Amino acid sequence: MKTVVLGAGVVGTATAYFLARHGHDVEVIERQPGAALETSFGNGGVLHASEVEPWSAPGMPLKILKWLGNTEAPLLVRYRALPKLVGWGAKYVANCSPARFERNTLANLGLALHSLATIKAIRSEVPIDYDMRTNGALRVFTEQQPFDAAARTAEKLSRHGLAFETLDAAGTVRQEPAFAASADRLAGSLYFPRDEIGDSHKFTRGLAAHCETLGVRFRYGAAITGVRAAGGRVEAVATTAGEVTGDNFVAALGSFTTPVLRPLGIRVPIYPVKGVSITVPGTAWPGRVRTCIGDDSGLYGLVPLGDRLRVAGSAEIDGYDATPSRERCDAIVRKVAAMFPDFAACYDPATALYWGGVRPVTPTGTPVLDRSPIPNLFIAAGHGHLGWTLGCGSGQVVADMVAGKPPAVDASGFRYANQ
Ligand SMILES: Cc1cc2nc3c(=O)[nH]c(=O)nc-3n(C[C@H](O)[C@H](O)[C@H](O)COP(=O)(O)OP(=O)(O)OC[C@H]3O[C@@H](n4cnc5c(N)ncnc54)[C@H](O)[C@@H]3O)c2cc1C
Repeated sequence: MKTVVLGAGVVGTATAYFLARHGHDVEVIERQPGAALETSFGNGGVLHASEVEPWSAPGMPLKILKWLGNTEAPLLVRYRALPKLVGWGAKYVANCSPARFERNTLANLGLALHSLATIKAIRSEVPIDYDMRTNGALRVFTEQQPFDAAARTAEKLSRHGLAFETLDAAGTVRQEPAFAASADRLAGSLYFPRDEIGDSHKFTRGLAAHCETLGVRFRYGAAITGVRAAGGRVEAVATTAGEVTGDNFVAALGSFTTPVLRPLGIRVPIYPVKGVSITVPGTAWPGRVRTCIGDDSGLYGLVPLGDRLRVAGSAEIDGYDATPSRERCDAIVRKVAAMFPDFAACYDPATALYWGGVRPVTPTGTPVLDRSPIPNLFIAAGHGHLGWTLGCGSGQVVADMVAGKPPAVDASGFRYANQ
């Protein structure tokens, strides 16, 4: 049985790994010269079961309307993107009801917890150096009201398996001494002991190399230009490096799943939402953060990755272009420096790596992990801000579906029809 995986991001590569484990003959098609060179390259690096709430949340549509065109807004919708956003936007608004938000959050949580267990199992089998740390994540708050609201949400989610602790400002400093200089600004924090961090590019590259030892073939530098279907089946994908045939196909193309599948009449409503990261050498700041920090009011993540520090954030709706906006990068750096004055010692624009990627966001805020209306074509895409968190679990779920086995976790929240 030959399965062709389209896309070698974290999701496609994890799918290829589990398919190989099921004994499939696997070929992966990727337009870049290696694995995880697009959105899975420079993301925030956090495997965060603590962040499973979709961006389609009650109250969000009104906020987005108020932020329209404002370049300082946490979620910037550029006016020029509006015409293409209409259909997706209507579905997005429908998913902001409290009931759907809760349903989608719980679906993501189940998959995130499974995915954390899955990456642990992969680690025990495949030695990959990806700057991993398993010392949890801190979400810090400078205002009481959002802190209390987040604590209530975490309490609710703890009934479904999310582990957390509530810390006051002093407890936050005990957990992460780098906050000592800014403790008076903190209302407190939530500590999520099971969240992990790691470099998703290094992990995916390592997993791809391991897949090759299992017999998986990676066809890099091959851009998919079309999908050929006949008699209700996909027969082949056309690429710039020739046609690739197979028995089954898995589309794991992130945001690009939508345009590639559209000519087949398959409508996966994924919209690209651009984010940025700035990676700096961390050694100039001896007391640098050792724990992953998510600043709830600054809306950035600060993550130690080996001897580097990565700051990530920003959400911008402006089509498929992933070029990082220097203005948005600088705005985040200023926020980090305001909270951690010593961060400035690490930050030299000449050595900083500025990166941009497009999160593949669905209106539900949950990925699609399902067979498409064409029976031998499966979809593993739409992971939004959670692709690194959910990637390994998603790969296993979809590989199980392709192999005709019941998935290890309830996948009813990820149906194509839900979108
Ligand atoms: C700033 C930022 C911070 C983030 N932080 C986090 C975080 O901390 N934790 C977390 O869980 N998630 C985070 N995410 C989200 C996460 O990075 C994504 O959800 C995830 O990388 C998506 O993985 P993927 O495999 O679906 O897509 P991708 O990584 O985009 O993989 C798709 C692959 O398909 C290939 N491809 C596309 N079109 C074609 C074509 N026509 N032909 C051939 N190949 C093609 C691409 O080259 C790419 O390699 C962040 C995202 C951003 C932008």
